[in-house]
Amino acid sequence: MTSANDEWLARSRAAVWHPCTQMKVHEALPLVPIARGEGAWLVDFDGRRYLDAVSSWWVNLFGHANPRINAALHAQLDTLEHAMLAGFTHAPAVELAERLATLAPAGLGHAFYASDGASAVEIALKMSVHYWRNRGQPHKRRFVHLAGSYHGETLGALAVTDVAIFRDAYGPLLGAHATVPSPAAGDGDALERSARAAAGLARHLAVHGRETAALIVEPLVQGAAGMRMYDASYLAAASALCAEHGVHLIADEIMTGFGRTGTLFACEQAGIRPDFLCLSKGITGGYLPLSAVMTTDDVYAAFYDDDVARGFLHSHSYTGNPLACRAALAVLDIFRDDDVVAANRAAAARRAPQRARLAAHPRIANLRRCGMIDAFEVTSARPDFARWFFGEALARNVLLRPIGNTVYFMPPYILTDDEYAQLVDAVLAIA
Ligand SMILES: *Cc1c(COP(=O)(O)O)cnc(C)c1O
Repeated sequence: MTSANDEWLARSRAAVWHPCTQMKVHEALPLVPIARGEGAWLVDFDGRRYLDAVSSWWVNLFGHANPRINAALHAQLDTLEHAMLAGFTHAPAVELAERLATLAPAGLGHAFYASDGASAVEIALKMSVHYWRNRGQPHKRRFVHLAGSYHGETLGALAVTDVAIFRDAYGPLLGAHATVPSPAAGDGDALERSARAAAGLARHLAVHGRETAALIVEPLVQGAAGMRMYDASYLAAASALCAEHGVHLIADEIMTGFGRTGTLFACEQAGIRPDFLCLSKGITGGYLPLSAVMTTDDVYAAFYDDDVARGFLHSHSYTGNPLACRAALAVLDIFRDDDVVAANRAAAARRAPQRARLAAHPRIANLRRCGMIDAFEVTSARPDFARWFFGEALARNVLLRPIGNTVYFMPPYILTDDEYAQLVDAVLAIA
């Protein structure tokens, strides 16, 4: 007898080409069909529940089917579902841009909307090069990114991404940009790694600063590289070096933004204001695709002209979608009303004894935390560790998706301490 689950996964494999997946893997490892979500849990068609410990790919903040976000969306749905943002405007787009400007590092008062993280990165890269062209410096068109960087999968974003498995097939399509050392890698403690990487950046800019448009970084945590964490002092040094060499700083806070690293934005911990701040993922609480690039008066002014071609003519059909902006406004309301950043800090402190249980496990190494992200490596000789662990975790009703041998927790902020303990129990049973 086939269950509803079996039917959905057979139909999905026949018709849906799934992301980030070698589809043949699903001959052995079944897809997980999801019927509904509630809080930190996803529920399949047979009623089996999975604890969503990766926030559905790092996007969910306040749980699935959150009543407050749902209510805001219902109201918006009855008012305006969408209107084009070129030549028109609407309350959700205006209110969100205003509120983001008050919350982001001071001086980022102009929001350009797009739909996904990668499209925000494309926008920041294009804006930077176009800025220098408008300012009479067309030779500034190279980008610098960190070793192990991840900025998305469209061609421009992939060109500044340093993850071989995502890049290699498309190498000929990607521009030649420079890789500088990561502050999250190498010997020594966090401050030594930070200083060494900053020295590497200084050397690079001393030679190539003239042709460099921008440095792009993931502040504090290189997510896709395996939750590699680094010290805020690197960001301060990089920001100063960029200013010194006339190079833009693009902060890709697509993953780190909205409280993930313990502050609303990771840049706050370094006291820096980038020239471009890329936001997405948690911005709508995991409800709808939306991204924004926040930038300065200086950048805005370089495009403001009688000449149409000096303007930033980039667009996406759903730019500034009212439903997505309304979800984002509901998310910001929750941050304010529940003092979420402080509540998260308290939750992370309360969970120290649970982390100690992990640290005591003989095959768990390098346990680290940044805000609401925990990560560690599991010593294992299995070549298929990530896939194996994923399957074992699902068998224990937990959704965890290791990157190589790195296991990480990036749960929705509404996770309870009991649920966190369940997560730790599952890991200890598997590892
Ligand atoms: C996820 C991510 C992106 C890409 O965002 P998409 O919405 O998947 O296109 C870019 N940069 C970082 C740091 C990310 O984590």
